[in-house]
Amino acid sequence: MVSSSVLGFPRIGANREVKKAVEAYWAGKLSAEDLGKAAADVRKTNWTNLKERNVDLISSGEFSLYDHVLDHSSAFNVIPKRYVGLGLSALDVFFAMGRGRQADGVDVPACEMKKWFDSNYHYVVPELSEQTDFKLLYNKALQEYNEAKALGVVTRPVVLGPISYLVLGKAAKEASADFQPILLLSKILPVYTQLLSELKAAGVDSVQVDEPVLVLDKAADLDKQYATAYAALVPVAPKIVLTTYFSRLDSNLNFVAKLPVAGLHIDLVRAPAQLDDVLAAIKSTPIVLSLGVVSGRNIWKCDFDAAIKHGQKAIDALGQDRVIIATSSSLLHTPVTLASEKKLTAEQKDWFSFALEKASEVATIAAVLSGSQDAKVAAALEANKVSIAKRREFEHTSDDAVRKRVAAITPEMYNRKSPFATRKNVQAKKLDLPKFPTTTIGSFPQTKEIRNARARLGKGEITEAEYDEFIKKEINLVVRFQEKVGLDLLVHGEPERNDMVQYFGEQLNGFVFTQNGWVQSYGSRYVRPPIIVSDVSRPTPMTVKWSSYAQSITEKPMKGMLSGPVTILNWSFPREDVPRKLQSQQLALALRDEVIDLEAAGIAAIQVDEPAIREGLPLRRSDWDEYLEWAVDTFKLSTAGVTDATQTHSHFCYSDFGDIFPSIQRLDADVISIEFSKSDMKLLQTFQQYGYSNQIGPGVYDIHSPRVPSEQEIRDRLQATLTIIPDHLMFVNPDCGLKTRGWKETETSLANLVAAARWARENA
Ligand code: GLN
Ligand code: ZN
Repeated sequence: MVSSSVLGFPRIGANREVKKAVEAYWAGKLSAEDLGKAAADVRKTNWTNLKERNVDLISSGEFSLYDHVLDHSSAFNVIPKRYVGLGLSALDVFFAMGRGRQADGVDVPACEMKKWFDSNYHYVVPELSEQTDFKLLYNKALQEYNEAKALGVVTRPVVLGPISYLVLGKAAKEASADFQPILLLSKILPVYTQLLSELKAAGVDSVQVDEPVLVLDKAADLDKQYATAYAALVPVAPKIVLTTYFSRLDSNLNFVAKLPVAGLHIDLVRAPAQLDDVLAAIKSTPIVLSLGVVSGRNIWKCDFDAAIKHGQKAIDALGQDRVIIATSSSLLHTPVTLASEKKLTAEQKDWFSFALEKASEVATIAAVLSGSQDAKVAAALEANKVSIAKRREFEHTSDDAVRKRVAAITPEMYNRKSPFATRKNVQAKKLDLPKFPTTTIGSFPQTKEIRNARARLGKGEITEAEYDEFIKKEINLVVRFQEKVGLDLLVHGEPERNDMVQYFGEQLNGFVFTQNGWVQSYGSRYVRPPIIVSDVSRPTPMTVKWSSYAQSITEKPMKGMLSGPVTILNWSFPREDVPRKLQSQQLALALRDEVIDLEAAGIAAIQVDEPAIREGLPLRRSDWDEYLEWAVDTFKLSTAGVTDATQTHSHFCYSDFGDIFPSIQRLDADVISIEFSKSDMKLLQTFQQYGYSNQIGPGVYDIHSPRVPSEQEIRDRLQATLTIIPDHLMFVNPDCGLKTRGWKETETSLANLVAAARWARENA
């Protein structure tokens, strides 16, 4: 029998129950006990749903109220000292680490967050040092296994493996200079030994141990550590299914195939070509192979024929009992269910599968491969054939005008008219900004009123004209505030945007969007990625109305605000029938028109955000050049249509740039703003080292937490920055948009930021 498995499930709940409960708890409107109940209800629904869909191996323990890596840190006693002794409950310490805390005399910033591999999910980075005192404070996997069992669902617990946990962590401040988290392997293994042996004692048959680090180049140097760790854990643990995803094992397979584990999971959606090598490597071992054939990262219906071919090949090599049909990764990166979508047409709905539908897919494929004679299985197989054929038919219809335009792109279209040094002078005259110009990243607080107005527009309770008036009022408020607080380069505040990608998706041809397709970005923050279904074009201007209104009510320069082609692509569910490059080119041409229209409307600075350009980088270095070439080119294509006098900006979040630095330079934006407040100065040193020549605004405070930075803090940061970045290239700004913040902290933080910049003008 071929079994089916789901590697992890969205945590939010079909109606965002968990998000709402967590936020209510933070607001003091829900007790810890009721939060626990809300979470347990969602877990119960998820488990029962998966069981009803005949999934054999159902995940447990991977649920989280914030982030699963943070769950491990919290359970392993990896709690930085600054969160200890504050009189907080364990739950509040957990949240304080995730999002900082500033209340009742307690004032601690959040731990650093980082992108989870190449996804838009963020994990909380473990802080490790020689002093780390690993202890298993509680066994979350066991608790949830027991919880599910009591509900009649036998699950396969999930834990993040020891090597990946360490490698994803970072050296804490107090660590010595030559410390590396992996040096703690022998210290962390007892915790895993205890955790896994408790699972075994509880009767757990198999456990999913995630080691996604195995798909990275750097795992090649960790062969000994992997051998040591799994030699120690296998004897005490339930059957371990070593789980990799998001890319390929490549040469790491050499040592992975020798590990004494019971099973291995590989991602065949991202890396189908690895199947042959893996089969050859494990054929003569007892290892069970879990085939990730149903995408955990995209929402297109699985093509059963293709998946069955993979499955059959594995069965031919290993036999049915050594094959599992699985999702490629956790389904965390997909929305809960298509059943919540009422506005998609029947044709569109037929193209997609969300998490619950994907669960049915793995179960059906496994049943087919097991030789099931069940009529329902046969019907599902037939229905899939019909759906896929229809989708293929649709894919053949392309927008000729768009395709022709892409084919006609010329090399000049990628470059500005003059080099940066020339542009800088022309722009200085036009914009007349002071030294250390202050600006923000674009969005201002998305208040309840704004969300309500949008919801009411959606329900038809207010007219388009009334909504426009409301948005204008909001823009007014934001503009007046920025004038009052003394910012130099203003923004309109983006009140009209539900989300920086969805907003554009909704206005472009070629996209469809969901009503309830929420995907976790970090903590309680969820986004609703649009879906690119066909060729992309811009029927009408998307932002010009708002930016020019904002400019019309102030003497100060207004910065136009767009999301870049690579980011729109990365934060959407992309098509799978054409390359990402083509999709990005189409987006870039649409944005290029918008940029030119903004300039014509009198907007002298235009920011095209590319926060996702780094995250889209392939996990394997050998794939980087190809990606960077088209990613940088398409950004340039979108921005280079303007005159020298227009100042182009770009913004990046979590800017781990060291290794792609030449590409950041090649973007040739006049100003970039980067996330920096949570990383160390190393990032800036990289800029210095490479001699970055354009203007740069290193984020001087962390907007991901409600904490207010003092003026002194910002001054200190500015001063530190100025030892590295020449003063004439410096902008002063927060590290990201303010949409998730409240007005109160925004007002004080920005007042402190302006004061610090003024201080710098006098003193630095
Ligand atoms: N302009 C966007 C904003 O301010 C940028 C957000 C982002 O980088 N994630 O919200
Ligand atoms: Zn950002």
